[in-house]
Amino acid sequence: MKQTLTGVPSAAELAELHREHLWLHLTNHKLYETQEPPIMAEGTGYMLKDVQGKEFVDGLSGGVWVVNVGHGRASIADAVSRQMKLLPYYAGSMATPPYIMLAAKLASLLPSLPKVYLSNSGSEANEKAFKMVRQYFAAKSPGKKKYKIIYRDRDYHGTTLAALASSGQQERRADFGPLPEGFAEIPHALCYRCPFGKSYPGCNIDCARALEQVIQQEGEDSVAAVILEPVTAGGGIIPPVPEYYPVLQEICRRYGVLLILDEVVTGFGRTGALFGHQHYDVQPDIITLAKGLASGYMPISATVARKEIFNQFMAGPEEPNGFFRDISTFGGCAGSSVAALENIRIIEEERLTENSALMGAYLMERLKELEAFPIVGNVRGQGLLAGVELVEDKRSKIPLQESRLAQIVASAREDGVIIGRMTRSVPGYNNVLYMAPPLIIDKYGIDRIIGALRSALHKQL
Ligand code: PMP
Repeated sequence: MKQTLTGVPSAAELAELHREHLWLHLTNHKLYETQEPPIMAEGTGYMLKDVQGKEFVDGLSGGVWVVNVGHGRASIADAVSRQMKLLPYYAGSMATPPYIMLAAKLASLLPSLPKVYLSNSGSEANEKAFKMVRQYFAAKSPGKKKYKIIYRDRDYHGTTLAALASSGQQERRADFGPLPEGFAEIPHALCYRCPFGKSYPGCNIDCARALEQVIQQEGEDSVAAVILEPVTAGGGIIPPVPEYYPVLQEICRRYGVLLILDEVVTGFGRTGALFGHQHYDVQPDIITLAKGLASGYMPISATVARKEIFNQFMAGPEEPNGFFRDISTFGGCAGSSVAALENIRIIEEERLTENSALMGAYLMERLKELEAFPIVGNVRGQGLLAGVELVEDKRSKIPLQESRLAQIVASAREDGVIIGRMTRSVPGYNNVLYMAPPLIIDKYGIDRIIGALRSALHKQL
């Protein structure tokens, strides 16, 4: 044990306090009236230990595809500690050296998007992108009201109200309306359940072409931007086909619509490329980054934009569009910036993106073996972002009952492997198991994931 629980309550006391006080994200707390709540205490690499001392392979990089560099990175802790002693924080209109260094680093990785705006979470980064786009067009074409944002069914962009309004997962939105107006949806890009009932490659990529129709329906002068996850993560692990983005981009250009790519999950090596969009022929105007940016060691997110967008905010200091009318108190926090810098250094030095591609291919090969099970309908993914869609039977593709997915996840956990299942979203679309281990995973770790999954699937026969 690197760190002991000395001075911390016992496991039983922690469970009691947990039951008394916690209100966790997306968690049914009723369960914990009869079950022990899981409480993780420590981690090294891709291994985790809970407060009872039980060990797990972390197949989810900290639960929500965040800890790309793995747990227990002392060099990130040291960098943050040094910075905190020097200067913990300064923000507003004043910069700190770490913010400057991080912005320059991100710009070197994404040279066409050299302007870097920092905030704290993926949702916030997307909200900033929407506000940037709206103010940009307000300044560029005054009186034109070019403000609408188009998003894709099954993509997720965050929890705040506009981010939710741009998320194509109906059940996440239920009960929170009215949501802000000015958002419209295009179909998802999942071939296994083609929204047009077609099969690739003879499909004319209609899912991407649908954008043009929606732009026309909404009024072409009113549409400002499209936001997409390069590879849909929480909506079912959906890498679009290679032609998808070129088709979509051509439509965006023709109608003067900006393209925002949400790389909150897919950034920093997760898909086997440094950024998910690099698998495709596409040039975004804005990218949002969060989770893998500092691997969860500190909260930080970024919205990076083309210079031409930024230049629209360069009117004289007294002009209303002389600055972006937005602030985020903790955006640009010096400690978070050094954590991100050290995290990126590790990803580059240890060639973790390459490992993600290599181990991702191995994970996919091993997952394909599971297609022999009658309930495994479709295996898909990109790099270390993988999904297994489960069905009642392969012909009808009726989604497997949610309770059975829960049994599979619980069985794997019993076997010391943490995998996930999609958050209940659109009924019938919650039948995907997913895996996204830290990018340092090796074949042994992947074999453990496959072993636990295989055994859980056997129990369903
Ligand atoms: N975009 C994507 C693609 C996400 O998966 C998430 C979170 N899972 C978000 C945005 C929102 O990020 P956050 O929870 O940090 O606000």
